[in-house]
Amino acid sequence: GTSHLDHCPTYGALSARELAAVRADFPLLERTVRQGRPLVYLDSAATSQKPTAVLDAEQDFYERRNAAVHRGAHQLAEEATEAFEGARAEVARFVGADVGEIVWTSGATAAINLVAYALSNATLGRGGAAAQRFALAPGDEIVITEAEHHANIVPWQELAARTGATVTYLPVDDEGRIDTSVVDRVITERARVVAFTHASNVTGAITDVAPIVRRAREVGALTVLDACQSVPHLPVDLHELGVDFAAFSGHKMMGPTGVGVLYGRRELLEALPPVTTGGSMIEVVTMTESTYMAPPQRFEAGTQMVAQAVALGAAAQYLGELGMDAIAAHEREMAAELLKIADLPGIRVVGPTDPENRLAVVSFVVEGVHAHDVGQILDDAGIAVRVGHHCAQPLHRRFGIVSTARASAAVYTSAQDVAAFRESLAGVRTFFG
Ligand code: PLP
Repeated sequence: GTSHLDHCPTYGALSARELAAVRADFPLLERTVRQGRPLVYLDSAATSQKPTAVLDAEQDFYERRNAAVHRGAHQLAEEATEAFEGARAEVARFVGADVGEIVWTSGATAAINLVAYALSNATLGRGGAAAQRFALAPGDEIVITEAEHHANIVPWQELAARTGATVTYLPVDDEGRIDTSVVDRVITERARVVAFTHASNVTGAITDVAPIVRRAREVGALTVLDACQSVPHLPVDLHELGVDFAAFSGHKMMGPTGVGVLYGRRELLEALPPVTTGGSMIEVVTMTESTYMAPPQRFEAGTQMVAQAVALGAAAQYLGELGMDAIAAHEREMAAELLKIADLPGIRVVGPTDPENRLAVVSFVVEGVHAHDVGQILDDAGIAVRVGHHCAQPLHRRFGIVSTARASAAVYTSAQDVAAFRESLAGVRTFFG
């Protein structure tokens, strides 16, 4: 456990001493890059680094408790199952869900695809009468937004193609915020699904969830929240948000790759047909037909990513012990530090320039310099940022650009990291004259 934080978790950001203690939890932050330069890691929106508590949890599982879960009649199997289900409970608590509402997936992309394919299986008549209310028909609408990651666009285009439904979308305003003033017009009576991001991986804008959920409920549409960027950085209570489904990835929240979560409201998971089928999700199998277990097992066919799930439980515990309010407060400070680049000549920030109600994810263009060149110059100084379209081509198109460079922070990011970034960035235009 982490007991080195003595602040009241509800107020204020981390002290210098607390931040140093957090950084010491992340072995990778000690390494150097590019001939001995200290690493300045500003790519946490792509993937976060991992604290020792997470690395230890995964290794400990393999060293001491590894066995097939939910099957064996032996002590090891019991302990492995306990660790696996304990992690589910830990993650459920962390996001304000019930344990039976947490389905393990390989990541957010798989979680969103799971919903889309379950809905098309329902459309094909699978899942019986209970699932019929999920069926889509030509003329039905699937509403997304202009701010989405491709993972929350393409699965819906595919679902539309399979069912004859149409994809429509909520636009973003000039700051990149989803325009919720038009929900009543865009989310029509024909809407069956409304899929939207909780926070943009490009602009950092945090979505005002309530008006979207309100309107979706009014027209009887399911809500699917892409919580990939919110769960690692903000206090998130899924029951309080009132969404029907939510997806997030372990690797962005200090956990391992290969594991993520689909949250689904219990009664919806109960009614939906499975997508991937096989072992571990059945009740009775005959040579002609089979019956399925209740959720979440119904959606977890085959051997699961047990060690990774256990380590994701440790990640949720780690974040919970630091306190999401403290993490959010620290990252708000980092957002303010990052946003100072807007004052540099020739820099255009894509997204809100006010540090409130946004994440410490700042995408920008440097006038006259290609994003890839910006990335390379920063990399030469040991500064890791991401460049490109960040899997959000429509959002970039909205702003008339093809690519941006993006600097993003996490709880282990320091003001010194951001200062080094700003200093190198100030030199980029000089370099390109
Ligand atoms: N949605 C958002 C907002 C993201 O930032 C990401 C991460 O790249 C994803 C979805 C997809 O996550 P993953 O690639 O872990 O499935």
